[in-house]
Amino acid sequence: MTTNDTDVPQKRPRRIDPIPPFSSRHVRFNRVHVAETEGRGLGVFADAPVKRGRAVGRVLGDLKPVDFRSCYCVEFAGAVLEPNEPYRFLNHSCDPNCEFIEWEIEDQFESVLGEAPKSQKTFELWLHALRDVQKGEELTIDYGWSWQFAIPCKCGSPLCRGWICRLDELDICLQNRGAPNCFVDEQS
Ligand SMILES: [Zn+2]
Repeated sequence: MTTNDTDVPQKRPRRIDPIPPFSSRHVRFNRVHVAETEGRGLGVFADAPVKRGRAVGRVLGDLKPVDFRSCYCVEFAGAVLEPNEPYRFLNHSCDPNCEFIEWEIEDQFESVLGEAPKSQKTFELWLHALRDVQKGEELTIDYGWSWQFAIPCKCGSPLCRGWICRLDELDICLQNRGAPNCFVDEQS
């Protein structure tokens, strides 16, 4: 079974509910840069340390229909977000140091001429650090793909599952797909 751009599922962010304790307008962006990795194409690297739990940056991009597929797309606000640089180049790790979180933000508007106060909900996608990240470290997320779409993983982590596959489907992946051969470079 091969996997290509048209049948890759979206990455799935964790949805924050209730609303995050601070507004995105007050979050300091951490600087990152895109650079070549060893054998895994482009990756995103931290230019400064990031504390565990802190937001690394907001993921901006183009909203697409729910059935849109690409190697970069992320489930977002009931549709799909095709991320812009730099975060479209986030690589997978079976032991990631970051995760996508979907913020649900409720803006309150003051009442006018005795009307009830109005509120409006918007959604933003953010990259958060799962643990302390050092300057220069590559930022990674768990793609969490279903086993049908799994491809061999080259993340190099001691916790590597062998497949880019969500943890709760790894058993069924191994039963159906067998052990991956991580030493074969499928690109060459
Ligand atoms: Zn891995």
